[in-house]
Amino acid sequence: MSTCLFCKMVSGEIQPDIVYQNDFVLAFNDINPKAPVHVLIIPKQHIETLNELTDAGLAGQLFSAAPIIAKQLGLSENGYRLVVNCNKHGGQEVYHLHIHLLGGRQMTWPPG
Ligand code: 5GP
Ligand code: ZN
Repeated sequence: MSTCLFCKMVSGEIQPDIVYQNDFVLAFNDINPKAPVHVLIIPKQHIETLNELTDAGLAGQLFSAAPIIAKQLGLSENGYRLVVNCNKHGGQEVYHLHIHLLGGRQMTWPPG
C-alpha cells in the first residue's frame, strides 16, 4: 500500500473533496486554500515532481483539465492562475505532482 498522501486519495483510502476526475486525473479542493477557489489537479499515476513528467499525453490530460474545472467553477471569464511547485526552491511540500488552480480573487505578480 502506498504511503503517498495523494496516492491514498486516488485509491480512496483518503477521501478528498473531489471536484473533477477522469481516467487520468483527479482534482480536489486544497485543505488549506490560498484563494477563494484552490483546487489541486493530480495525475492518478504516482509521479514525484514535474521533473519526472515525461509523458506528453499525460501532461496534456493534466493541463487540459484546468479549463474544464475553471469553467465548472465559474472562473473562465474573470480568470485564474495555475502553479506547479517543483522541488525545494519551488516550494513543493507534497511529492506527488500537482497543479494548483487558484481563482476567485485578483492575483499578484511576482509571487514570493
Ligand atoms: P505544494 O506546496 O506541494 O505545491 O502543495 C501541496 C498542497 O497540498 C498545499 O497547498 C496543501 O495545502 C495541500 N495539502 C496538504 N495536505 C493535504 C490534504 O490532506 N488534503 C488536501 N485536500 N490538500 C492537502
Ligand atoms: Zn503518489
